[in-house]
Amino acid sequence: MDGDLFAPAPFSGLNELREEAIHCTKCPLHKTRTNVVFDGGNPAARIFLIGEAPGYDEDQSGRVFVGKSGQLLDKIFAACNFTREEHIYISNILKCRPPGNRTPATEEMAACLPYLEQQIEIINPAIIITLGATALKALLGENLKITRERGHWKLYYNRLVMPTYHPSALLRNPNLKKDVWEDFKKVILKYRELVNPGHYCKYV
Ligand code: SF4
Repeated sequence: MDGDLFAPAPFSGLNELREEAIHCTKCPLHKTRTNVVFDGGNPAARIFLIGEAPGYDEDQSGRVFVGKSGQLLDKIFAACNFTREEHIYISNILKCRPPGNRTPATEEMAACLPYLEQQIEIINPAIIITLGATALKALLGENLKITRERGHWKLYYNRLVMPTYHPSALLRNPNLKKDVWEDFKKVILKYRELVNPGHYCKYV
């Protein structure tokens, strides 16, 4: 008999969790969403990128980071020689869009965070990147300030976290781009150290 028959499937539980979220009514956002936006990228990736919540384009399409912020993110990935298909798994603190893209309410985050916590367990990333103040605070503590913490490695239950600005902040203030690039350069170096010493990036 093949012993592998009883081995857990890769990313065991991810499909079930996604299915549960797609039908979720745990917070009032289920009444106003068009689509639940659960995840994107590669579940086998070693980098887990966490944003705030779906925006208009994401809510309409059901896909993560497809609007202007997503396009900017893809340019940053390209500079790092990372792709969504290979290197990055992506999700948000909230899986449903807050109307008008307002900041997520505390109760909404409390209701939704268990999904993210389970995703982190299942994906088991080597590196987590949080984008913006909401993701930083939700994951690591309400009192943290993104302006102070960005660029500094933090720990989330023994997992390395690099906080950086959200791409929507870069669209509003392009001066922040250089800071985000410095943060991603640290991610590239850590990726080489922990995951793939041969990862090529022409800038780092
Ligand atoms: S935001 Fe999260 S908790 Fe609220 S309805 Fe959507 S999936 Fe459920």
